[in-house]
Amino acid sequence: MEILREESFDIDLRPKSIDDYIGQDEVKKQIKIFVDASKKTGKTLDHILIGGPPGLGKTSLAQVIARELGKNIVFTSGPVLEKKGDIAGILSSLEEGDILFIDEIHRLNPSVEEALYPAMEDFCLDIIIGKGSSSRSVRIDIPPFTLIGATTRSGMLTSPLISRFGIILHIDYYDTDSLTRIVLRSAKILGIKITENGAREIARRSRGTPRIANRFLKRVYDFAVVKKDGTVTEDTAREALDFLGIDSYGLDSRDRKYLQIIIEKFNGKPVGLNTLSSALSEDRYTIEEIIEPFLLRSGFIERTPKGRKPTDKALKIFKKI
Ligand code: ADP
Repeated sequence: MEILREESFDIDLRPKSIDDYIGQDEVKKQIKIFVDASKKTGKTLDHILIGGPPGLGKTSLAQVIARELGKNIVFTSGPVLEKKGDIAGILSSLEEGDILFIDEIHRLNPSVEEALYPAMEDFCLDIIIGKGSSSRSVRIDIPPFTLIGATTRSGMLTSPLISRFGIILHIDYYDTDSLTRIVLRSAKILGIKITENGAREIARRSRGTPRIANRFLKRVYDFAVVKKDGTVTEDTAREALDFLGIDSYGLDSRDRKYLQIIIEKFNGKPVGLNTLSSALSEDRYTIEEIIEPFLLRSGFIERTPKGRKPTDKALKIFKKI
């Protein structure tokens, strides 16, 4: 038995084919049709925008699409592309039908975004040659490609960019059954002995998020190896997750601190994001993107025009904290 390392762990667990990709049935149905159509007609697949919270499988889905098409995929992300030349370099190195994946596409620099418009629409790039008064713009062709953009913030995308995507998909949180299957699949790949109920206990506390479920599986396995006989059972999972501070609602210490602040410090009155950010010592991004989506979805908080408020459910459960 070995203690697993994080890096190899993540790469091995990525779904290899569309059937390997668990859950999200509606999205998969659509993708199968688009991929088949592209293969039959020989036409490049339309540009795809995938929206959804972090860790739900947007990158994995893009990889699966590339594999199903039998094409290469090039990965980059919005914040990495600083200037027009960065995107021009990548686009001109693509081969026909390749996939360009841009993560966090809502964080593109406006000049990079503008360069993408003609590339997405007409498969060409406008390049400036020369300097000063003798400079001129020339249009060069690039091979037809498919852009897959991923975003956790669809609302932050500009309408000219959104309108250039032919397919818009949304990935939602996973239900416990699907997450249980993901945990069982990951355990099989990693050679971890686990019971169905052990997987379910991990799934239940993983905030509907495969990345978290896989991380918990690793931690619970470490616990099972060191403290038990190496098999992940329901009891072991429960004990390990309790030990890690993950409660039966899937809340971690940071979530509980958040709830404690809005319930006790602010007495259940609406609290603004900036106030919360300094009270929690967390940046706004972490609060809005990572902590709050789960608390909202599980009915622990609500957003009002005046700020965040605990729900009756949260008050009932956490008044005792
Ligand atoms: P995102 O790009 O949305 O942040 P990723 O595609 O990186 O999410 O997914 C995180 C991890 O969760 C992946 O390494 C993969 O192992 C796992 N995963 C995500 N979605 C699925 C799925 N539908 N089926 C199986 N595993 C998944």
